[in-house]
Amino acid sequence: MINYLYQEQNWQSQLSDLITDPLELLETLKLSPDQLLSGAILASEQFKLRVPRAFAAKIQAGNPQDPLLLQVLPHHLELEDHAGFVTDPLDEEHANQQPGVLHKYQSRFLLTLTGACAVHCRYCFRRHFPYQENLPKSEDWLNIQRYIQSQPDINEVILSGGDPLTLSNRKLKLWIERLETLPQIKFLRIHSRVPIVIPNRVDEELISILKNSRLRIILVVHSNHASELDDFTCSKLSQLAKEQITVLNQAVLLKGVNDTADVLVNLSYRLFDAGVMPYYLHVLDKVKGAHHFDRTPEDISQIYAEVLARLPGYLVPKLVREIAGEKNKTPLFGVSTF
Ligand code: SF4
Repeated sequence: MINYLYQEQNWQSQLSDLITDPLELLETLKLSPDQLLSGAILASEQFKLRVPRAFAAKIQAGNPQDPLLLQVLPHHLELEDHAGFVTDPLDEEHANQQPGVLHKYQSRFLLTLTGACAVHCRYCFRRHFPYQENLPKSEDWLNIQRYIQSQPDINEVILSGGDPLTLSNRKLKLWIERLETLPQIKFLRIHSRVPIVIPNRVDEELISILKNSRLRIILVVHSNHASELDDFTCSKLSQLAKEQITVLNQAVLLKGVNDTADVLVNLSYRLFDAGVMPYYLHVLDKVKGAHHFDRTPEDISQIYAEVLARLPGYLVPKLVREIAGEKNKTPLFGVSTF
C-alpha cells in the first residue's frame, strides 16, 4: 500500500491528477517496467491508462498479480483478435436514438452525459464507443424531452457513460432538475465507479442532491473485489445508505481478478457491511481487447454454484449476460442459452 493522503484531498483535484503513464503506475507500485510486455504501451495508446491515486493506493505494492492492478494495467494481449470479440458487442450503435440516448429496454433508457471516466477498466464493453459523436449538449435537452414524452412507457432514466459522477455537482443537479420536470419519470438510476475509485466523490453536496430529489434515486456502483472496499470507501458508501439512498453493486466476472467463489463471497459480505446490496454479476461482454479476462461457461457455472451454496440468497448477485437486441438482461444460471 502506498502512503497517499487521498482521504484529505477533494475529488476534483484527484480527478485532475490521475496516473496516465503505465510506467509511473509501475514505479509507484514498486514494480519493474518489464511488467509491460511488448505491445502493452500500444494497448495503452489505443485505450489510455487512467488510474486515480486513491485506487492505486489500494493496490498491493510489489504484486504484479494484484487483482486491482490487473483491471487497469494495459496488457499486450489486448491487441489480439479473437473470434466473436468485437468493438460493439452489445450493438449499441443501433440503440443510439439521438445524442446521449441509448434506448434498449422498454421502461427505461440510458442517458450518456459524458464519455469521461475516472478509471479506465481494460474489460470495459464501451472502450471503443464513439462518445464524442454522442454527447448531448445543453440545447439537446428539448429533443431528449420530446423523445421521453413520445414514449409513455418510460418511467426511469439511467445516467451512464462514461461515468456520470465525473460531472460537477452543478451539472448533475441541472440534469436531475430537468428530468424532474417530466411527471412520467419516477426513478433515476446512476451507474458509477467513481465512489469506488475516488471515494471522496461522495461529498455533502452530492448526498444533498440525491436525497432531496423528487425522483427515487438508485446509485449502482461497480466494485469487483473486496480489496477495492477499504474502510474509507466503505464509510463513504455507508453515508449514502444512512441517508436512505439505495446503493447497489454490479460486478463483472473477470479471469484472474474475481473468478473464485472465495473472492465473490468476500465481496458480497464487504458490500453488505457498507450498506450496499449485490445486484448483478455480469459475464464478460465480448469486447475486442478483453478476451484474456474471459472464462468458459462451464467454469462460470461452477464458480456461481459455489457462491449460491455459500451465501444467503439476499447476498447473491444475479448472474447475467447482456445480449444485443434482448429486452432485458438474460439470467444465466441454469439457463440453456448460457
Ligand atoms: S468506469 Fe465503467 S464505463 Fe468507465 S471504463 Fe470502467 S467499466 Fe467502462
